[in-house]
Amino acid sequence: MLIVKKFGGSSVANKERIYNVARRCVEEYKNGNQVVVVLSAMGDTTDDLLDLAATISAKPSKRELDMLMSTGEQISVSLCAMAIQELGVAAISLNAFQVAMHTSRDYGNARLKKIDTERIKAELDAKKIVLVTGFQGINRYDDVTTLGRGGSDTTAVALAAALHADACEIYTDVDGVYTCDPRIVPEAQKLDEITYDDMLDLATLGAQVLHNRSVGMAKKYGVELVVRSSLSDAPGTVVREVLKVEKRMISGVAVDKSPARISLIGLHDAPGIAFRVFNVLAAEGISVDIILQSVGRDGTKDISFTVDRKDLDASIKVLEENLSKLTAERIECEENVAKVSVVGAGMMTNPGVASKMFEALYNEGINIKMISTSEVRITVLVDQDNADAAARAVHNAFVAQD
Ligand code: ASP
Ligand code: MG
Repeated sequence: MLIVKKFGGSSVANKERIYNVARRCVEEYKNGNQVVVVLSAMGDTTDDLLDLAATISAKPSKRELDMLMSTGEQISVSLCAMAIQELGVAAISLNAFQVAMHTSRDYGNARLKKIDTERIKAELDAKKIVLVTGFQGINRYDDVTTLGRGGSDTTAVALAAALHADACEIYTDVDGVYTCDPRIVPEAQKLDEITYDDMLDLATLGAQVLHNRSVGMAKKYGVELVVRSSLSDAPGTVVREVLKVEKRMISGVAVDKSPARISLIGLHDAPGIAFRVFNVLAAEGISVDIILQSVGRDGTKDISFTVDRKDLDASIKVLEENLSKLTAERIECEENVAKVSVVGAGMMTNPGVASKMFEALYNEGINIKMISTSEVRITVLVDQDNADAAARAVHNAFVAQD
């Protein structure tokens, strides 16, 4: 079997952890398998590198930031290759340039386009364990790019697809995907399996366990993922197209404490106003999430929406500059908000999910600021101070009774 194993930053945070990873890989190899290992940077290395850049420049060039950040993963693959060699097995580390992992041009958030597999296959044929840097690629200028924070998962899935691997295992410091973050909801349960679609929604809505782009890619190429702990032998959670056993109404509850809410008050109730508002934001590269428009009255209306908090200042600035063009009387914003979402394809066939969710929030005395839904998801915006209590109430209304 050809197995791709990905280990996150906490799994390679120090010497002991690196040896732990090395031993797991050697064991797999000695069972007669070909092993390709994708690693993240050790512990908080990527954050430390960003802090280091900030000491030099307030607005460093994106190209140089990628050049800098990519070193983190080179440290972990080379050290881990040394550890495997110490354990008596041949190993080689390769960076994105040596493999040739081709990405789009954009620094900081590049997309993997094509992976050359010749070098990896040759090294596997030479009976080596192959370690590949996660999170990075090269673009058409032969410059180093990175795939966005948490992007090593995507590297692993892309490699598994390109190599037609028999398994793709994502190792982390928790033993699988939970119905909610156990640090917020102690009653959270580990899922044995989850569909790509539900996992994608949970990852996008704030669950930290997988990079959302990696889940989309896994679905596209039919790569079955196993999410499991690097520190135990617990079986983990399988992410696949169709569930074999578990049929839950709700797959999980996600909490995202990063949004901010902006409201434009007193807009003209006329065609083209919403277009102008969101066009101004799009031109600044700002993504907007939940959008709510009030019913028009006396010729005016309000539009509220959420943005990532890091985009709040830029959003306010561009909206203020365009206030009269947008016909707004004033702008209001709120920084301390959070999104709480329930996700599950089971919702489609079970009426009353929304009412049950809102009842659970009401019982806790939690006010809902905004609501957004799809067929398989309900998201509410609440005060950030209420986020954990909201998640617990909603989770326990659904999951505990499943
Ligand atoms: N080291 C990178 C980060 O911290 C990539 C990853 O961990 O997946 O974002
Ligand atoms: Mg990470």
